[in-house]
Order: sequence, then C-alpha cells, then structure tokens
Amino acid sequence: MRNETLQSWILLVAAHTKPARIHWCEGSDAELAALSKQLQEHRELQPLNEQTYPGCYLHRDDTTHDTSLEQRRFVCTATRELAGPTNRWLNEPDAYRVVWPLFSNAMSGRTLYVVPYLLGPQRSKYAQVGVQLTDSPLLVLLLAALTRMGRVARQHLGSSSDFARGLHCLGGDPPGRRYLVQFPASQTSWCIGVPASEGAALLKSHVLGLSGALAPEEGYLAEHMAVARITRPSGARHYVAAAFPAGCGKTRLATLQPCFSGWEVELVADGLCWLRAGDDGRLWAMNPAAGIDGRIGDSDRRVDPATPAAFARDAILTNVAVRSDGSPWWEGSAEPPGEGLLDWRGNRWTRGAGTPAAHPDARFVTTGHHWSRLAGEFYSPLGVPLSALVFGGRRRDLAPLIFEATSWAHGVYAAATSRSEVCTGAVAAAGALRNDPMAMLPFCSYNVADYLEHWLRLGRQLHQPPRIFHANWFRRDAGGRLLWPGFGQNLRVLDWILARAERATDARLTPLGLLPNRLDTTGLDLHPDVLEQLLQVDVRGWLQETEASREFLERFGQRLPRALWREHHALVQRLRAATN
Ligand code: GDP
Ligand code: MN
Repeated sequence: MRNETLQSWILLVAAHTKPARIHWCEGSDAELAALSKQLQEHRELQPLNEQTYPGCYLHRDDTTHDTSLEQRRFVCTATRELAGPTNRWLNEPDAYRVVWPLFSNAMSGRTLYVVPYLLGPQRSKYAQVGVQLTDSPLLVLLLAALTRMGRVARQHLGSSSDFARGLHCLGGDPPGRRYLVQFPASQTSWCIGVPASEGAALLKSHVLGLSGALAPEEGYLAEHMAVARITRPSGARHYVAAAFPAGCGKTRLATLQPCFSGWEVELVADGLCWLRAGDDGRLWAMNPAAGIDGRIGDSDRRVDPATPAAFARDAILTNVAVRSDGSPWWEGSAEPPGEGLLDWRGNRWTRGAGTPAAHPDARFVTTGHHWSRLAGEFYSPLGVPLSALVFGGRRRDLAPLIFEATSWAHGVYAAATSRSEVCTGAVAAAGALRNDPMAMLPFCSYNVADYLEHWLRLGRQLHQPPRIFHANWFRRDAGGRLLWPGFGQNLRVLDWILARAERATDARLTPLGLLPNRLDTTGLDLHPDVLEQLLQVDVRGWLQETEASREFLERFGQRLPRALWREHHALVQRLRAATN
C-alpha cells in the first residue's frame, strides 16, 4: 500500500541528503544477515566466539563517548514555555538555519535505509509505528533487535500519516556538530553525528520524546520504566514497574536473579513502557519494545551473575575487550583476561597498564527472545496491571533504601523531586546530583509541569492505584563502601513492597513516608546498625533536601500543579515538626 506522507517525506530527505540508493527494510532474516555481512566486511562488526557466544558480534566505537546523546539534544517547540525549563529549546527558524544544512549531501555515496518499526505487538490496539531514515546499517540491526522492524510495521501503518519520523545521518563531522533535534508537535527528530551504537538511546528518545509528547492526548503515558513479573512461592503474582535514571538499575531489577528459593522474577519490559488506566481502575503497563539493552562495563559477575546471560546469544556488544579465543571480556567478568587480550579499542592490553580493558560504558543490545526469564507478557498486547510503581535513583546518602508514599499525590511529588547522581559515562557532570523527575529528564520533550499534571490526572482515573515507592540501592558508608548488596538481594525489598501492596504488613510512618518495620535479612551478612542506617530518615538532611526541591519546582512557575506545592509544604511541615 502506498503511503503518501511517508513517500513525500522520504523524497524530501533524499533530495537533501543525496544518498546513492534507497533501501526499504523488510526485517527478514536474509536481509539482516546481508547487512551483518556487509558490516563485517567493513570491520564494523566482528564475530565473537561462535561456541560460547553464538550469534554475538563486537562493535568498536571510540566516538560514542565524547558527548552523550542527551548533551546534543534540543527541543523545538513553538515557544520556549512549551519545552519548559528542563529542555534546551531551539526555535524552528534556527533549527532550519543551523542544523538542517548539516544534512546537505550527508548521505552522498551511501545508502538511505528506510526502517519502519512497530512499537507494541502487532495485534495490540495500542501499537504505534515509527519510521527511521538512516545511512547506518548498524542502526538497522539494532532497531531490528529492539523493535518489530520491517514489513510488519509497514503493514500496520498502511496509508496513515500517524507515525514518528526519525532522520539519522552518521555524518563525518566533529563532535561540535552533533545534534539531536526533536520536534514533538510533528513527531519528527533529526539526528546527525551520533554513532549508531547509540541506537538504543536514540530509540528511547523517539519513543519517550516523540510518541511520548502526544501520548497524554491519547490517554496514556510513555515512560522510562522496566517492568517485572514477580511470583511468590505461594504462586501469588505481581507486576512491578521501576523508573530509575539511566544506569541506575532498571534492567538489573527486571532481570534479577532471586535470592530466595521458590521465587521467580521475569522480564516484562526493559526501560520503555506505556502506562494507562484500565477499565478495571487499575494501572496497566505495556511493553512497546521487543529487545533488551544494557550496560556491560561495570557488571560484576560475583554480585550480578544474571546479566552476562542476557548477552550470551544473538547480541551486539559495543566496546568490550576480546580474549584470544574470541570471547568478550570486561573488568567484572568471571574469566581471567588470559594472554593476548585486546582492549576495547583493539589494542594489546596488559594488566597494570592502568587503563580499563573494556570501556566502562560497554553495552549490549539483543532481542528478548532467548532470555531465559522472559515473562510471556513481554509480548502482551494489553500489558499487565501494576501492583507497585518504584521510583528511585543513585544517592550515596540521605535517600533510604526504600520508602512508600502515603498517597498518589505524595508519590508523584516524591518522584518529581527525586535527585540522582548522574552516571551516564559521557555526561560531563557525572557524579553530580540532579533532579530527574520520574527518570524522564533527558526524554520529556514538553513542559515537565504539564507532564506532572498528567501524572496527577492519571491517579484520579485509578480506583485501585498501585502503591508508589522510592528506592535507593546505592547508599555508601563514610569509606565509600556500598551499604546494601543490591542485585538479587533487592528481592528482599520487593518482598516488602509486595506485602505492602497486599496489605499484609504494617509500616512505620515517618515525616518522609512509610518505611519497613522489618526486612527479611535471613542469610544476609548485614550488621543491624547498617540496616538501621539504610532505613533511617535523616530529618535535618531532608529539610535541606526540600530546599533543593523547592528551587527545582520554582523553575516551573505558575504552570506547576498546585497539588505538588501542597505536598511540598506538607513535607516541610512534617519534617519541621519532627525536629522540635
Ligand atoms: P538501567 O540503565 O537503569 O537499566 O541500569 P542497569 O540495570 O543497566 O544498571 C546499571 C548499573 O547500575 C549496573 O551496571 C550496576 O553497576 C548498577 N546497579 C544496578 N543495580 C544495582 C544494585 O542493586 N546495586 C548496586 N550496587 N548497583 C547496581
Ligand atoms: Mn537498561
């Protein structure tokens, strides 16, 4: 079927970027194999050990890390106010004056790939289509792993003009000329100079920034969340969604290896989900993606044995080291590096050289199909009803291991004012604390004040809302050591969360919210003082924190929903009362 809107957009882009040819992606195995072969011939992909890592390839990229996608991102809306104070605004004339010319002839001699992709299962009435135009065959492969790519998406689209448009050119330009410009009103994004290995981040930007901007009008919210299905030994089953900033443990939570026997944790969504109020008054979460992506660089097999299994088959790995037998190696890997290790740049590496062999931000992308703990609902057209929403971040101090909000509005406030240490490798301010409302700061392409209003409205539509929690796995002692073992042991916290959702356990009311009276720590070598520290509310520290929250909320002026100021003042009062 002809799609006039799509055709004319492709013509417009082709006339400007001047590719040598145009290739419509089908998504067939033969097509993907041919693209992979082509990339291998150009040494952009390199097969890893076929016995131990079947279907896995290494991609080396030393440009990814100069600047992150987030740092290159601009939002183009009719007014600055519509983009809001958290986005870098660009007006449309400037976008056409400064950025559009960079695409001129940018595909000359290259192939323009037309990559239609479907977000959500084909039979889901919530599924949406995006079309990516790119000159990078690697990006095609990544989108094929992470979405339902090709013919299936093209069929779903038919002649509709309702699709997100992404234009991507590798570009040969220096980092100063890298851009991601998003036009939420027209569902369009331009991206130049960003390496294809950032494909997973680019997809997240499209889904959350383009589809996400129109989502509220269509009655849902596009969220940066992982979703897990948790089954107790009794067979009782719950779905929990977690929204943490990038690099703060979403994938790890949804792929968690239970520390208690008889429990199961299975992956429903990895980092992207669509939330809507169901007819039953519960909150439903659907997985629009079809793959998994994550960090390898800092995964330590001793504490986190689950993750390496996710990229042991049919995966594209970026910037790991390679052992002489062709298997990948990274700093936390269980194997010894052996003789003849090549570092992430492809140079001989010796221990003691002082540089890491794998890039700390080494990553993987894979289809979800072979993940052993994939919930059937990963593919569900309706999604799953949530028992709990867990927000959180990375804080070496202050934020307790877990607390529960006392109401929906309180939960929205806690998530809106949550601060986290920046940990995406490339962001200049890595380690600095910043506000990251609902972990959406790098993605929300419209005024966050309006976004928060959507959250409050969503709550009013729910008769059985999930409880809202705030978690922090990253508390450290004065010597910098982590206080909580994390990873599989986080099930102990999830156990409490579920017990709260089932109204099966009471909690301790503090000025901050509800905290556990006890956590099951059997078999864990954790000093009672440490547990107390993890579950303590530092009233004076939190009073200071409310100052930072106030400054953040004030940036939104009159646009900020009043309910959030009410929550803010109530928190300050509770904290003040507790200091007297
Ligand atoms: P995502 O980007 O939110 O999906 O984050 P990941 O799940 O990929 O985790 C990013 C990094 O955070 C991992 O490499 C770990 O180093 C760290 N991490 C994740 N979960 C935990 C945890 O429970 N405890 C600790 N200490 N670190 C964690
Ligand atoms: Mn992740």
